[in-house]
Amino acid sequence: APPPEPAPGGGIVGRLFKGAEAEPRRALDDAMLEDLEDMLVQADMGVETALRITANIAEGRMGRRVSSTELKELLAEEIARIMGSVARPLPLYPKKPQVVLVVGVNGSGKTTTIGKLASQFRAAGKNVVIAAGDTFRAAAVEQLQVWGQRAGVPVMVAAQGSDPASLAFDAMVKAEADGADLLMIDTAGRLQNRQDLMEELAKIVRVIRKKDPEAPHNTLLVLDATTGQNALSQVETFRKLADVSGLVMTKLDGTARGGVLVALADRFGLPIHAIGVGEQIDDLDAFDARDFARALVG
Ligand code: GDP
Repeated sequence: APPPEPAPGGGIVGRLFKGAEAEPRRALDDAMLEDLEDMLVQADMGVETALRITANIAEGRMGRRVSSTELKELLAEEIARIMGSVARPLPLYPKKPQVVLVVGVNGSGKTTTIGKLASQFRAAGKNVVIAAGDTFRAAAVEQLQVWGQRAGVPVMVAAQGSDPASLAFDAMVKAEADGADLLMIDTAGRLQNRQDLMEELAKIVRVIRKKDPEAPHNTLLVLDATTGQNALSQVETFRKLADVSGLVMTKLDGTARGGVLVALADRFGLPIHAIGVGEQIDDLDAFDARDFARALVG
């Protein structure tokens, strides 16, 4: 799938250069840096990260006249440097089953992402089991069953409203009995009652640790790129609720430019395991820092 669309109006850098010349230049002065910073903030990178990037670009270059091509390269380099260290596929362990807990607010794309991941792991020859741990939302359970069918992966479900931790335990037993490589556990995403959610997640972890003291091996937080800066507060919230080990950013196929990913990487440094680029089963890509940076600067 293609990297995210550049922002309308010629991308972040394009809009800073207006002029009749074929390759207009602008001096890297305070006014230019301020414009650049505004563009970065508008692209969802957040003030802190925008300031840091702008300062890095300015360093040793004040007063120099740069073309838009040069500035694009400088900016893409800065962004790729921040993002390079977080672009990492989901690590696979020899442990069977590897337990992946999937958290995030409702609507972020948890169900879809679990389906896409299951399909990718199946294609790689892995034996996968899914547990529909959001037992309160009947629609979520049904959706997960549909995704399980598409991916050719069994989905463990429990009666509506039953204890997600006991389902998780049963899923551990099944995954072990099946010799599954991977168990993915969906969870509830109701942030309305954080205390409840925290206890629910903690109980799931406690119970699966009875079967494997090292589980879960990964806790994936799924974030929706279209929520912009909200993604930052979601990371903060979920890190208090669970031991988040990595991120998946969804909906990067739409108009969302994904600048918030730069802010996330800069602030938290959590690995970005994959990006969602559509609603279909194959619409999950590895995150590539260079491609992403190029698409973003436009
Ligand atoms: P959940 O409530 O977190 O489980 O979210 P869902 O997986 O049900 O996704 C919510 C909506 O977002 C659904 O309509 C999905 O089709 C859609 N969605 C999920 N991931 C992506 C993505 O990468 N791109 C697009 N365009 N839509 C997505």
